[in-house]
Parts: sequence; structure tokens; C-alpha cells
Amino acid sequence: MAQYDVDLFIIGAGSGGVRAARIAGEYGARVMIAEEDRVGGTCVIRGCVPKKLLVYASRYADDFIDAAGYGWTVPQPTFQWPTLIANKDAEIARLERAYVTTLERAGAQLTRQRALLEDRHTARLADGSKVSAKYILIATGGGATPGHNILGLEHVISSKEAFDLPELPKRILIQGGGYIAVEFAGIFAGLGSKVTLIYRGENILRGFDDDVREHLRMELGNRGITVLTGKTVEAVEASSEGYYSKLSDGAMIETDRVMFAVGRRPNVEGLGLEAAGVKLNAKSAIAVNEFSQTSVSNIYAVGDVTDRINLTPVAVREGHYFADTIFGNKPMAVDHEDVPTAVFSTPEVGVIGITEAKARDRFAKVDIYKTTFRPMRATVAARDTRTFMKLVVDGDTDRVVGVHIVGPDAAEIIQAVGIAVKMKATKADFDAVMALHPTAAEELVTMRDKATTFEKEAK
Ligand SMILES: Cc1cc2nc3c(=O)[nH]c(=O)nc-3n(C[C@H](O)[C@H](O)[C@H](O)COP(=O)(O)OP(=O)(O)OC[C@H]3O[C@@H](n4cnc5c(N)ncnc54)[C@H](O)[C@@H]3O)c2cc1C
Repeated sequence: MAQYDVDLFIIGAGSGGVRAARIAGEYGARVMIAEEDRVGGTCVIRGCVPKKLLVYASRYADDFIDAAGYGWTVPQPTFQWPTLIANKDAEIARLERAYVTTLERAGAQLTRQRALLEDRHTARLADGSKVSAKYILIATGGGATPGHNILGLEHVISSKEAFDLPELPKRILIQGGGYIAVEFAGIFAGLGSKVTLIYRGENILRGFDDDVREHLRMELGNRGITVLTGKTVEAVEASSEGYYSKLSDGAMIETDRVMFAVGRRPNVEGLGLEAAGVKLNAKSAIAVNEFSQTSVSNIYAVGDVTDRINLTPVAVREGHYFADTIFGNKPMAVDHEDVPTAVFSTPEVGVIGITEAKARDRFAKVDIYKTTFRPMRATVAARDTRTFMKLVVDGDTDRVVGVHIVGPDAAEIIQAVGIAVKMKATKADFDAVMALHPTAAEELVTMRDKATTFEKEAK
């Protein structure tokens, strides 16, 4: 039998790679993990965590307004971007150290350099050394796509640079309609920047329920964000004060910064995938089966590099189940159905299950329940914002197949109501729960009147 330097070699110490290393190590596997950047990966260093900290910072703007309504005397608040960025960096450094400790405790050997595949059992490191492994896990994540090769693309920043700007831009143009673009629009607007969000499609948040898209767009507008759809940035050039962006309709907009958040792509380039025989799918992501196994039987891939559902908990679970399957003798396939998801815009979006449009495709009869109301907290200061909630119900089985919320704490509510949806709760089950008053979430169990019923025509 062939002898290998390690049982498992992992490329990438992000969400998926670190979890796989820990679990495999706990099963007694000899693990080595290579990381070319900082340990923790996208989520910890330049994704979920710094993003959420900036979102928290931006939401104080509303709190100051509400506080005055509740009788507090609020001195004119001022904001120091460098303080926020320094404190954010300190927290990320703390988390990075925690990730390194996790690897150490699991007995995994961390090597801080780039790695690639030489063949199906060999990884080559940037320092020229080679490591043979019985199993290899590719967990290299993804990166921002630069977008079209327009004139002046070198002036454009991505979310990665946005986290470390030396100063808060007074004016920023953000191109993109996905969750990252919308979240950064909310961050910068809350902190006081004048934000223009520009998206080539007809409305932001493609793939989300149409009512959610409409409601959030209206809310962004109410918060002073200019949302331009059906347009693109054609060129960017430096001006004396910042940058001019030339739009597809001929308009010119001058801002201090231009940011693109137009999509992400799997990190597959220069990894030696061909040498090892690892195949890509039609989306240029690593093709895997339900156990995250690639076209080469001893090579597995998890997380964003497989472009299944690009979220941290999904990468973590895929990494965990990979280790259970291979080193714990417990074959586990990740269930990618009904994954709760959030957009940390302000107000935020929380979703589990399918949209009304998808339900209409899938089911013969669909019942829709909707409500919109002003969140109680905002009433006293008369802040102009409304919460939106929607239930999508399979009319034949009464099962709740989609819950969509736009409003404060939507993500927290969805995480909890997600248990019910995953357990296949019916609308009658929702109705049987006593309301908890006064809360926003009580609306989920008190929506009695159908907004619409859709029935497919009999054929
Ligand atoms: C701005 C932003 C906000 C986000 N917000 C959220 C959120 O709120 N909630 C959520 O669930 N998800 C969020 N995500 C997505 C989340 O960050 C990813 O889904 C998650 O990090 C994927 O984990 P991963 O293990 O696949 O890859 P990553 O975490 O990206 O880790 C991959 C690691 O591999 C390393 N690497 C790559 N190639 C090599 C190589 N050849 N050799 C050595 N090392 C290599 C990289 O440096 C990186 O550290 C966000 C992403 C972004 C960009």
C-alpha cells in the first residue's frame, strides 16, 4: 500500500477548509492545510464578519433619530471612519487567532503559502516542496469578478478594498444588484455617504421574491439611496475631486469612489486541476457529487469553489460532512434544500424556501399571505420605514414553502422560523401558535386573509 506524508491535504483555510481540518483531525487523521492569505478566509477577513460590523455601525443613524423621538437629547452625532476600521481590524485579528488555535488543537499542520496540485496525490507548495496525501480537499473559495473590461477599470474597487478605505467617501457609486452591492449601499448611506446604486437588470436582488425586491427598492429610495436600473457604467475616469462614471444612457456621475459588486467566481485558476484530472462544470466551478467528491475519487471540493450555495454555513457543513464521510466512516450528503438566507441591507431581508414565482411553477395551487406595517420602534419618531412579510403556501398540502421578510431583525426571525419550514409545517401549524405580543414576528402566525390564490388552469 502506498505511503503518504499526510492523510489529508487541504488547500485553503477558509470556512470549509478549517472545519474539515478540525473534524478530520479529531478523527485522528494526519492533516496539513495550506493558506496563501490570512487564516479564516473570505467570511472572517473580507466577508460576513467585517460586513456585519460595518452594518451595525451604519444602523446607529436610525437609532439616533429614534432616540430623539423617545425623549433623549442627542448631541449632533459625528462619525470617525478610522476608528471603525481599526476596531473592525482588531476583531478580525482576534478571530484569525481563534481559527489558528482551532487548527492547532485539532493537530492540523498549517503552512502559510500557496499550494497547487501536481497530480492526484501530490500538492506542490510555493516554496517548491511537495506533500503526498491520501486525500486532497480543495477549499479555495471564490473572488470578485471585475466585470466588463471597461475603460478605467483600474479606478474601480471591489468589496475587498471597500473594507479598508482610508476615509469614508462622501459620494460613492456602486454597480451591482446582488446582496453585496445592496448591503454596501446601506452601509455607506447609513454612515453618511451619498450613494448611487446602479444595476443593469430591471430590479435589484435577482432571484429573490418580486415583492421583496420591490419593497426593498422603495425602502432604499426612502433612505436617500438613488437606485438606477437598466443602466451600466461604461467608463470611469479620474476627475479633480474623484471619478467620473459614464453611464450607458450617456449620463455622467461624479463620486469619490466607484465600487463594483457584479458577481463572484470560483477560485480554480492555476490550481493544477488539469494535471490531477479534476473536472469543472458548466459554471466553471469544480464539479462534485453529493458527497463533495470530484471527478478524481480521492480529491474532494467544498465551499464556494464548487458554486453550489455560496454561504459560510454551507461551506462549513460541506467541510464537516466530507470529514465525517471519509475519516468518520459516516457517509453524509449535505441537504441544500431550504437554506435560510439574509441580505444585511437596511432594512434587512430574511428568506427561507421558495419565491411566489417558483411556487407557481411547482404547485397546482398557491396561497399567498402578505402584510406590511410600520415597525413599532419607528413609530414614535415617525421614521419612514415599513416592514413586509409574506408566506407562500402550497394550496394542496397547506405546507408553508416560503417565508419572506423585509424589516428589522428579519435574519434573526428567519433563522428560527426556518426550523418550522424545514419540518414541513403547514399554514394551520403556523396559525396554531399563539402570537407573542407586541412583536413583529407575531404577524407570521396571525396572517389570516389570503392576499391571492393562484390556480393553474386545468388541462
Ligand atoms: C462581502 C462578502 C460578504 C459576505 N457575507 C456573507 C454573509 O453574510 N453570510 C454568509 O453566509 N456568507 C457571506 N459571504 C460568503 C462567504 O464569505 C463564503 O461563502 C465563504 O467564505 C466560503 O467559504 P470557503 O471555505 O468556500 O472559501 P473562503 O472562505 O473564501 O476560503 C478560501 C481560502 O482559500 C485560500 N486559497 C485560495 N487559493 C489558494 C491556494 N492555491 N493555496 C492556498 N490557499 C488558497 C484563500 O486565500 C482563502 O483564505 C460573503 C462574501 C463576501 C465577499
